[in-house]
Amino acid sequence: MPRKIEITTRMGCRINCRFCPQKRALERYYADDKKRQTVLSLEKYKEYMGKIPKDVQIIFSGMCEPWLNEECTEMVEFAAQGGWVVDIYTTLVGMKEEDYRRIQKLKLHYFVLHVADKDGNATIPVTEEYLALLKEVVEGHKAGTLPITSISVHGDFHPQIREIMALIPDVPVLREIYDRAGNLEPGEGVTITVPEEKKGCLCCTKCNGYSLDDNYLLPDGSLTICPMDWGLECILGSLENESYEELSEGKAKQEFRKKMKSAKYGPVLCRHCHVSQRRGAYRVSCFFRGMKRVARRIIKGK
Ligand code: SF4
Ligand code: SF4
Repeated sequence: MPRKIEITTRMGCRINCRFCPQKRALERYYADDKKRQTVLSLEKYKEYMGKIPKDVQIIFSGMCEPWLNEECTEMVEFAAQGGWVVDIYTTLVGMKEEDYRRIQKLKLHYFVLHVADKDGNATIPVTEEYLALLKEVVEGHKAGTLPITSISVHGDFHPQIREIMALIPDVPVLREIYDRAGNLEPGEGVTITVPEEKKGCLCCTKCNGYSLDDNYLLPDGSLTICPMDWGLECILGSLENESYEELSEGKAKQEFRKKMKSAKYGPVLCRHCHVSQRRGAYRVSCFFRGMKRVARRIIKGK
């Protein structure tokens, strides 16, 4: 799996979905400094990107809908035209038709849509503007100009988008909701939790075992350890004054790894995370994944 950085274009997502730990993230982000940078500026973004190697995949997702930052389209263009592999995960909120037409011209790796559901789990406003853009995005998929990789919906489709969604039955639909390693209180719309603390030596199936190189970039240059760390328990440091390599193998990550391997070093998020796995089981699953890859290559005659 490639190394990844998920770009948080601003702190505080006004969509405020029921299953999203916005409150916790904001409390922790501003806990020691109320004046901390809220919005990622294009200038700072370019400065941080200058420190990120080209083999690191850039994902527009993070702790906020990316297009709640007006400079998001420029940021995406900068990454895609600059040689990084780029993924987009968006609700379309804040995106204008002009933005969509610009990103349609780029070479993107993943384009994932998060859409409105009938129960209001994702509190995406279903306005005329939203419906018009959603239709255009669906047309873009059908025409092959910007294929939608998958659709995320937390329940059934909102009644007002059902007809539009029916036009693209070929796109995979993902419906799970997770509690972000216990970062949401029960009753906040969560459907999947880890009921008991996981014991023993754990590996991360999302972040390459112990590589832990799927990090969130926050607006002030800080990097979090992983996509579940909405409580900002483990900050690797900041691209403001350190290099990516320094942060990647710094003390914070090493301490986190020790806690994953043994509870005697202290509590760690992974013990409540749905993607952590006991080391033995992880090795077995890696072995079978490797075998599958080899089998696929043999079948393809490579
Ligand atoms: S759109 Fe994404 S970041 Fe914003 S509240 Fe919903 S899940 Fe959270
Ligand atoms: S909490 Fe641990 S297991 Fe879960 S995603 Fe983060 S590093 Fe991986």
